[in-house]
Formats: sequence, structure tokens, C-alpha cells
Amino acid sequence: MHTLRYSPTADSLGRDTVTVTYAALGIADQIWMPQKGLILIDSSLDPVARHSSLAHMLAHLDLGHRVHDAGTAAGREHVLRQEVAADTLVAGRLVYVDDIVAALLVHGSDASTLAYALGVSVSTLANRMRSLAPAEWDRIRLAGPPITWPAELPAAPRCLIGEVSAAWAPGVRLRTTRVPAVVDLPLSGPLRQRVAWTCQAVG
Ligand SMILES: [Zn+2]
Repeated sequence: MHTLRYSPTADSLGRDTVTVTYAALGIADQIWMPQKGLILIDSSLDPVARHSSLAHMLAHLDLGHRVHDAGTAAGREHVLRQEVAADTLVAGRLVYVDDIVAALLVHGSDASTLAYALGVSVSTLANRMRSLAPAEWDRIRLAGPPITWPAELPAAPRCLIGEVSAAWAPGVRLRTTRVPAVVDLPLSGPLRQRVAWTCQAVG
């Protein structure tokens, strides 16, 4: 039986208040401009990355995220919290526990193979694992041996929220920041991973 699956493309096409454009951005992998209702995705991203970038920006939109001053510690904390919230929502929308269980039985416990089979990045799979409910966690644990993760997760996309229509033109003032965070996967021993988000905000 097929259940209805979340598609960021279908989601974006069904919204008449948001426009999605793919272009060579350079300054970021993904930009959400709340006032213009415009999502820009870097056209050089591979299909899986474009898919998750669009899902990520729609999550920012749904969560009402706005640009925040990332020039202060409190601002960076806020930006980081927004990124974590968006990533958590995306992982819940894109990764189904039924699919993780089925993929574990078919493909084994290597995280990269599982993510490939599920059509998401390893980071998205890791984000889903972090937000499992106890009953979901039990189902996955019963499906096979613990998932084995790569030593380092790939760098997160450079995400930018703000009205930056001319941001890729020379001379634009752009305040950027990198916000590293240590996030523990709800996994044992060596599976604790250091995850760094790159967040940018326009001042
Ligand atoms: Zn973001």
C-alpha cells in the first residue's frame, strides 16, 4: 500500500504565495526572501540537494522564520535554533519510519546506503533519527543492527533568509556568520556526531 508522500515540488507548486527559482547563486545554496515570497535554489546542486533545499526553505516559510541579526550571540543562537527547527521539520516530512525499517532490512545498516535508498542526504536521515519518538526508535532498533554513520557528516547547505535581491551583485552589504553546533544523535558510542550548520543572515 502506498501512502501519500511529501513532495517539496508539489508543495511549492500548490502555494500561490511563493515562487521558486533555480539560479546560479554563488553566495548561498538557498535563499528565502519572506517579503517577496521568493525561494532561490542554487542550480548547481545535485537533485537530492535541490530537493532537500526546497523542502528546507518551505519549512522556514511554514515556521514563520525571518531574518535575524546574526551579529550578536543571541542572534546566532536564534539563527541556529531556526536552522535546527527547519531541519527537524524537513526530516519528518521526507523520511518515513516505515521506509527506514524497510530499507534497513533490504540494504543493511550503512547510513550512506540507507540515505541513498531513501532519496535523502545522510544529514537528513541523521536529523530524522534525532527526532524519533520512543516507539519509532524501538521499531528501528528491532529492524537490524545499529546504523553506522560516516565519521563526518557533509557540510550543511549555506542557507540565507532575507531580502537580498541584489546580494549577488558587487558592493552589496551582507553580514554573514557561521554557526557551528554540536548535536548528539540519539545513538550510542561512536555514533555521536559533530554537525556544523552554516547559517547566514542579512543585517
Ligand atoms: Zn535554513
